[in-house]
Amino acid sequence: MRIGVPKEVQKGESRVALVPQLVSSLKKEQHDVLVERGAGVSASFSDEDYREAGATIVEKAPALYRVADIVLKVRPPQPQEARVLREGSTYVGFLAPIENREVIETFAKRRIMGFSLEYVPRITRAQSMDALSSMATVAGYKAVLLAAEQLGKMFPLMMTAAGTVPPATVLILGAGVAGLQAIATARRLGAKVEAFDPRPAVKEQVKSLGAGFVDMELPEDVETKGGYAKELSAEFLKKEQETIAARLPRVDVVITTAQVFGKRAPLLITAEMVKMLHRGAVVVDLAAEQGGNCELTKPGKTIKSHNVTIIGAVNLPATVPVHASQMYARNLINLVLHLYPKDTAAPDFEDDITRESCITRNGKVVNEAVRNAYQQPKKDPQRKH
Ligand code: NAD
Repeated sequence: MRIGVPKEVQKGESRVALVPQLVSSLKKEQHDVLVERGAGVSASFSDEDYREAGATIVEKAPALYRVADIVLKVRPPQPQEARVLREGSTYVGFLAPIENREVIETFAKRRIMGFSLEYVPRITRAQSMDALSSMATVAGYKAVLLAAEQLGKMFPLMMTAAGTVPPATVLILGAGVAGLQAIATARRLGAKVEAFDPRPAVKEQVKSLGAGFVDMELPEDVETKGGYAKELSAEFLKKEQETIAARLPRVDVVITTAQVFGKRAPLLITAEMVKMLHRGAVVVDLAAEQGGNCELTKPGKTIKSHNVTIIGAVNLPATVPVHASQMYARNLINLVLHLYPKDTAAPDFEDDITRESCITRNGKVVNEAVRNAYQQPKKDPQRKH
């Protein structure tokens, strides 16, 4: 098959869906690889790197879309890209299908088979295809660096001839993939770290990274069968806010990563609570695009309130494009090779990874969760302040 990799068109996106080192994994399976000129440049991969790895460079995206059987991308296609993909071709990448209904309906109309990395199930067999986790790992790491950059203090304990500098104190709320990586990174920089997550299994993971765990009395049933957090009651969230509030006056940095799958991010830091942080403290809100864990967060913006810096972090992986592209490309290739093992012309829909990640097929939106979401009245994704 001919596998095409266009240049990303979204402003600020510097990742690329395939890195030169992985071209050979596709060639080995007898696929041809086409890469649009300049596709890897913002991630520091030159056209020459791709050519040497065995790819063919195509001058412009429309020429690539005309011939590619499978298109690989990072960002969901823009409506104009969806219209030029070849009818009957396959698309594999992030699709954010609920937010991109127009694109998904164009896919269905034009019989494009769309696979969405967000819908790869979080099961052991699919771990090597879990791009959401890879990108959350990058974001958790980068969130700590952003905080360190904004904080007027250093992270590590330093005993110098000019006196002793105590370590910075960091509070991490939500210790899933991004949160655990944020803990590890803040610890490596020498900060004193505390974290909270309502899933009981997380306590040991937090402690094994050398951080303290904020103990709270938990409701009994906090986890879904798939290991995700359930939406917690308003009563519990109020108690959680009180527990957090008691800690705020002594922390320098708060990194929030709390999310409940498919829901708006829980509100953990109200506007009133921001006033409890000391002057110069920093909040990095990784859930900015899901409504924010902090009430004052503005997605994509850094604001100051009561001398506290609040960073509404979006698309942090694009700020680390070399490694983010390498990790993303590895996940993507693993999915492509799973969908199309050697000498197979069509994916096997008996397989659950294939079935669950497929959004459009045979002219229809086939993913039930996406179809149901389209039937719901449109919601405003931002919390009203
Ligand atoms: P995850 O599902 O692995 O982790 C989220 C954690 O939040 C879970 O462990 C869950 O138990 C916890 N949680 C749920 N309710 C909570 C509550 N009330 N209090 C404390 N914790 C609670 O998700 P992830 O992959 O780590 O992603 C975390 C967030 O980061 C998501 O909102 C994701 O969209 C975002 N993200 C942002 C960027 C960026 O660049 N800004 C990049 C990647 C991911």
